[in-house]
Amino acid sequence: SDPILQMRDTTVSFDMERGESRVLDNVDMDIERNEVLGVVGESGSGKSMFASALLDAVVDPGYLRGDITYNPGDGESLDVLELSKQERKQYRWEEVSMVFQGAMSSFNPVRDVETHFVETLEAHDYDVREGMERARQLLEDLYLDADRVLDSYPHELSGGMKQRALIALSLVLEPEVLVMDEPTAALDLLMQRSIISLLENLKERYDLTIVFITHDLPLVADIADRVGVLYAFEFVELGPTDEILEDAAHPYTRMLLKSTPNLESPIENMRPVEGSAPDPVNVPEGCSFHPRCPLADEECVDVDPGPYDAGEGRFVHCHHWEHSAEEIPMTEDADS
Ligand code: SF4
Ligand code: MG
Repeated sequence: SDPILQMRDTTVSFDMERGESRVLDNVDMDIERNEVLGVVGESGSGKSMFASALLDAVVDPGYLRGDITYNPGDGESLDVLELSKQERKQYRWEEVSMVFQGAMSSFNPVRDVETHFVETLEAHDYDVREGMERARQLLEDLYLDADRVLDSYPHELSGGMKQRALIALSLVLEPEVLVMDEPTAALDLLMQRSIISLLENLKERYDLTIVFITHDLPLVADIADRVGVLYAFEFVELGPTDEILEDAAHPYTRMLLKSTPNLESPIENMRPVEGSAPDPVNVPEGCSFHPRCPLADEECVDVDPGPYDAGEGRFVHCHHWEHSAEEIPMTEDADS
């Protein structure tokens, strides 16, 4: 194991009149160098907060505590939550960069694309000529006509082109880690798939570590080495993608897989996960999934589970993970 980023006991909370609202709850997570980590969860599960925490970009009145360590290599290690203002600015773009949710609107409509690149380079005291060469290369790597895109205003580009231009922009300062929050949600399925395969190429070419955050488990399965499943502001399962897809140990992961259309399972077998994600001020005691879980018993109501080591590199927060496969079969009709 060679983690580039490590989160320990990381919590993000808000003080609300109704009580403390935890939107990230004691998360431990190692992100391995050069892996693609998929982070999956319903909306309101804490996905975006996980990303903001990684970048120390939680905004007031949100309160971030715990430990986040960045290990750029050569035995160096940085305490992310103790960075000075200047160090943080550097950390956020030059080490760990982020494509935000709905980021396509983050282009300034009255500036051409080139200006966005130049201003980013200047703001970080990078050599602009060298940086623009890199920008062109990145745009070409993303199958864009660099001259044409740089000369364009954002509204002159299609959604897919804009998204790719933003990915190029997020990489122009040569970060080690790219964090993407629902980067393809606004695009059609074909464009989503093509962006995923472009990301795979970029990852190899630039030795990137990628954190890919989405509500769409099958989509992330195409690119992720490991998948972490968020439920109620904590990871309930983490493991190699193949293990998660073939033999998920947590009831929620199994139900999530059954709720999403995919190639293996006919659409008539799709089952939505009944009920709704918990309110952050009122997360159920014990296992937070118990109100929605078909396997829940008294222990689940009383005792916060795990993590249990489920083998094959899987960690699962469920008392009864050994029975989840028989209780929640992945195909309803045993026609195989
Ligand atoms: Fe379900 Fe209990 Fe496992 Fe929670 S701990 S997921 S309620 S079986
Ligand atoms: Mg979100």
